[in-house]
Amino acid sequence: MSMSIVQYYGSQLSKCGYCSGTNCSKSHGMHAYTMRCQDYQDLIDRGWRRCGNYCYKLRNEDTCCPCYTIKCDALEFKLTKSNKRILRRMSRYLRDGKRDSGPGNGGDGHGDADDATLHGEVNASEPQPQLPDKSPAVINVEQVASLVEAHKKPNPVAKPTPAGATAPSAPPPTLGTNKSAAPISNAPRKKAKQMRLERRQAKLGDSAPPPTKSGSQEKGLRDFISSASETDKHKLKLRLVHVHSNEFKTTLSASYSLYRKYQIAIHNDPPKDTEAYKDHLQMTPMKNEKPSDGPEMGYGSFHQQYWLDDKLVAVGVIDILPGSVSSVYFFYDPDYSFLSLGTYGSLREIDFVQTIAESVPSLKYYYMGFYIHSCPKMRYKGKLSASYLLCPETYVWLTLTDAIRSKLDENKYQRLNPDDAARDVNEFLIEHLDEVMLLLDSKTFTDYKQYLKIVGRDQERDTIIEYSRLVGKDCARRMLYVNMS
Ligand SMILES: [Zn+2]
Repeated sequence: MSMSIVQYYGSQLSKCGYCSGTNCSKSHGMHAYTMRCQDYQDLIDRGWRRCGNYCYKLRNEDTCCPCYTIKCDALEFKLTKSNKRILRRMSRYLRDGKRDSGPGNGGDGHGDADDATLHGEVNASEPQPQLPDKSPAVINVEQVASLVEAHKKPNPVAKPTPAGATAPSAPPPTLGTNKSAAPISNAPRKKAKQMRLERRQAKLGDSAPPPTKSGSQEKGLRDFISSASETDKHKLKLRLVHVHSNEFKTTLSASYSLYRKYQIAIHNDPPKDTEAYKDHLQMTPMKNEKPSDGPEMGYGSFHQQYWLDDKLVAVGVIDILPGSVSSVYFFYDPDYSFLSLGTYGSLREIDFVQTIAESVPSLKYYYMGFYIHSCPKMRYKGKLSASYLLCPETYVWLTLTDAIRSKLDENKYQRLNPDDAARDVNEFLIEHLDEVMLLLDSKTFTDYKQYLKIVGRDQERDTIIEYSRLVGKDCARRMLYVNMS
């Protein structure tokens, strides 16, 4: 197990993909060399999001289009009429090979308001963020990983080596037992134990109906996803491919051409080359972590490929994390837009979360990225019920209700949490500064307290505090902040 390594870039001004303003999107950004899946889960729970290895968090109070992180509880998910229509249309197409004439003509009623906003749109038309024009410092990630590993090895017999003997290639010996190690080793272990217990309980209750269906009489999502039959005219297969796998490489040309076709048709914005595609949709700071209490495929970054007969027609780019599946991007073949593949894809992703939750009950959320109320064409994400928005000040989740919608109508920036006294439980306070972890070069990492002893006066202090506030105290004590000035 290694530690996350990030280089903080500070405030960023960029082109906004929602209102198309040139320099009005305000955010904070950082480059992640490597990131533990739990750290990324914690970061998205504070409003961060990634594009390739670049992580960013909007400055919601003063950016042009505030972005609220939105998630859906897959176990509480309720199908709308429009969802059912899309699922039935797909089943009919697979069975008979006939395509319906269009949205709303699915044979079960007229198109409703949902159709206009949802049709083919969920996940789909999200613009990708503009990446900063910076290149991160060069770091030997493997070397840092082995350094961290050496420090973590429990060795109750060995006495700490005097600082002078190993310096400067190794961090001060106090680090081996420092407090910052506690959140890494203790918290997840407790969680793992709890998860094993929950899994055992789930196994014992095997004969009971799965917990995914609320309202026992009503048909659930699974019932609408038809199982294949011999007589079907078309076969749709979903294949989950890890971005570092061989399978990814062998299907790269198919997925790249699909992406290209999609970008031209939907955004009129062809990618430069395969490298640009890889930067956005293959690059990830996360490794494929496979803890024993996690899902079978492990955590990390994957492409979920939709093969219609032998043709790749859609790709869902997802991160599987402890606690959630996060949608990064979704693209599909515009020739098949009569199947509403954008919405169909998000329904399949919710179904995917429900399936994982059967063996890993704590993994039950589906993250859809950002909800942008001030941009009407981006409101479709709030259509999936039950959805929750992240309060940008206290980082608690609030059910997306009409009351919240009207609040956002009044003012595009809202704290959301109605409890004025509530505070961020993971808030970074100045007394935590000593424990912030820093990487000084590929051979030396240290906490801020030791670092100050080495350098005397710190010119980066304010930046380190800003970074720590944004990532929260737990991540500031767990991740390595690259400080190579
Ligand atoms: Zn904007």
